[in-house]
Amino acid sequence: MTDYSNTIQQHLDRIAKHARDLFGNGHVADYIPALAKVDPNQFGIAVCDLQGNVYQAGDTTTAFSIQSISKLFTLIQALQIYDEELWQRIGREPSGQRFNSLMQLEVEQGIPRNPFINAGALAVCDRLESRCSAPNYQLLELLRELSQNPHLLVNTTVARSELEHGSRNAAMSYLMKSYHNFDNPVEKVLESYAHHCAIEMNCIDLARAALLLCNKGKTLAGREILTQTQSKRVNALLATCGLYDAAGDFAYRVGLPGKSGVGGGIVAIYPGHYSICVWSPELNDAGNSLIGTYALEALTDALGLSVY
Ligand code: GLU
Repeated sequence: MTDYSNTIQQHLDRIAKHARDLFGNGHVADYIPALAKVDPNQFGIAVCDLQGNVYQAGDTTTAFSIQSISKLFTLIQALQIYDEELWQRIGREPSGQRFNSLMQLEVEQGIPRNPFINAGALAVCDRLESRCSAPNYQLLELLRELSQNPHLLVNTTVARSELEHGSRNAAMSYLMKSYHNFDNPVEKVLESYAHHCAIEMNCIDLARAALLLCNKGKTLAGREILTQTQSKRVNALLATCGLYDAAGDFAYRVGLPGKSGVGGGIVAIYPGHYSICVWSPELNDAGNSLIGTYALEALTDALGLSVY
């Protein structure tokens, strides 16, 4: 294994400095009004390794709305409960469509393409609602454990704002219900989903939380969250479906499995080595962090990191 630790901090400092020159080229998500109020001129990047080291540069201790990055952790929760049975309700193929598209859902008779688009995550939340006594609380507790941050919270203003402007998510849920692929009351699941998206974490929290996917499903303390096989499969889904209709471009540029959110965060995994979280609120046309994608590309190029 190559030891990158001497140079990694230098690269992060250089990338963070350059990232600031790129402000002003994207747009902050505004379809959820509470997210439109975020200061766009922010950038942070954190890298965790399996020795417990954390490298960081920029605004790494500012908490942001994790949005669709929550889909990674609800999938982990659902796999813990359902394992392979989950795939009777949700597909595992890239969508090639926008994160909140309804088109495929109708064509494929209420079976969402994958767990990382909105329809798929809503189906995952429905599954959790069926088997968990308190799915929201249990997700928060899991994230607190994985991030080693007991202070994580949901921003209820963001959750409410999303619920008030979540017609597309409601439409997807009712469509799935019409195809008998949704068992619980739609309003209840939508509320749960909005709360997941509105959890606030910083780059260090998220890089730490994702580290189990670099460690064959185990925390650094040795607790098995996922089996080795489940961890492999989650990484494969991240690589093929984690960036919506830009999954191919992200693989081409960054070379790692990843998951983005419209809050501007992206988590990336280099299995066996590093988990990375980058955050900058301005998005590109596919709804992924513009500068975050640039930063990951610059880092993986500089260090020669790739799963391909
Ligand atoms: N809460 C957002 C929504 O449902 C998440 C989308 C995202 O982060 O990609 O639209």
